[in-house]
Amino acid sequence: MVDLPVLDGAGLRTLAERSAAVTVACACNEASLAAWTSTPLSFPETLLQDIGTLLPDPYDEPGFAEYHPGGTRYESADAPVAPRHFPYNRCNVAACKVCGRCYLRYTEAGGYFVDRRIRALNRPELVVDAALALS
Ligand SMILES: [Zn+2]
Repeated sequence: MVDLPVLDGAGLRTLAERSAAVTVACACNEASLAAWTSTPLSFPETLLQDIGTLLPDPYDEPGFAEYHPGGTRYESADAPVAPRHFPYNRCNVAACKVCGRCYLRYTEAGGYFVDRRIRALNRPELVVDAALALS
């Protein structure tokens, strides 16, 4: 297990900008992953390599508070990418080894299932480093 660098909002935004600039066609870009989705069976996961994490402390249990000041929902394509909020606070960032596009990934684990979820990281304007509101 390799220690992945912890990314903050600025690092995430840089990766999103880099990812957005990629225009070459690639197997990783065939399905739309603008919003969170279960990793499609057709998705070429072997092309992805984890390059960073948003989980600041692996011994800390990340919270479930979401960040939607504009009325978006978890599954909205326009939902903010807020690294301190669910589900970003448990994500790794992966890059495609072929084209360089970046993706956010985490595992949703229930009692009897494991769902590996993915969202494209290519909209720098959605990245917000909002502080976690204490409730
Ligand atoms: Zn690719």
